[in-house]
Amino acid sequence: MQIRRVGVVGAGTMGNGIAHVFARSGYAVTLYDVEQRFLDRALEGIKKNLARETAKAKITAEQEAAALQNITPVLDLARLAECDFVIEAATEKFEIKAEIFRELDRRLRPETILASNTSSISITKIGALTKRPGQVIGMHFFNPVPVMKLVEVIRGLATLQETYNVVRELAIALDKTPVEVNDAPGFVSNRVLMPLLNEAMYTVMEGVATAEAVDEVFKLGMAHPMGPLTLADFIGLDVCLDIMRVLHSGLGDPKYRPCPLLIKMVDAGWLGKKSGRGFYEYRL
Ligand code: NAD
Repeated sequence: MQIRRVGVVGAGTMGNGIAHVFARSGYAVTLYDVEQRFLDRALEGIKKNLARETAKAKITAEQEAAALQNITPVLDLARLAECDFVIEAATEKFEIKAEIFRELDRRLRPETILASNTSSISITKIGALTKRPGQVIGMHFFNPVPVMKLVEVIRGLATLQETYNVVRELAIALDKTPVEVNDAPGFVSNRVLMPLLNEAMYTVMEGVATAEAVDEVFKLGMAHPMGPLTLADFIGLDVCLDIMRVLHSGLGDPKYRPCPLLIKMVDAGWLGKKSGRGFYEYRL
């Protein structure tokens, strides 16, 4: 299967990174979001990140220009109909993704693979909403996408081997390393990572230590490149909360209950780096 044009649904933190790496590897990218301002912000981010790669001599000025040329921002989902492969990276809410997948299923050629970058929602459940569950798969990138090597490739119960093979090859073409995982709440990465971040939040809430102290423990004691609370701010506290809720309801074990401090911060609109405030403050 020849993939030339890739559709990316959602131009937020992950969508802009995903569009960046596909465009940098020579794919034509159609980037869709629901409002022009989200597309503008994404393109600005991609421009800045590509320029940084050129400055670090990771790519040439010609490659930078070509990558930018490869991206077409659109506000009309119908424009994705011409894509050979679509990856969804919209807000981590099942109802939002369900609506997107129903629409994509209706509009795209029946053999076109539909992937989701979801951090935790069941690929099997998303696939069952479509008439092509064999062509639905998880392709889970990590933040920041242009830098992180891992792609978790998640097989839903009905995902075909051929679909898996295509997505595996696609990840390799992007210079990423695919790791095969079966569908389960949070897959491997977030099943293990999120309870760690959540527990770190409990230690702050209970006054065991400050956010800075917790982060120091992990950086200096466990050689983590960034502490769990800095990482949570980078991921987005709303995303963290959504994932904890999926783990809690999907696995049914009280050990996955979201930390009340996390809930309170999200209620306050303190979403981490993207909103300017989380466990730390950021200049926007
Ligand atoms: P984000 O909030 O930064 O971006 C989400 C984007 O989706 C926004 O631009 C929003 O306008 C758009 N959107 C909402 N409804 C839409 C619709 N109906 N159609 C098209 N676009 C729509 O979120 P994010 O951090 O980029 O996360 C996106 C997905 O990637 C989620 O499924 C998340 O779980 C997953 N993910 C996030 C991270 C991370 O570190 N943030 C890492 C891996 C995977």
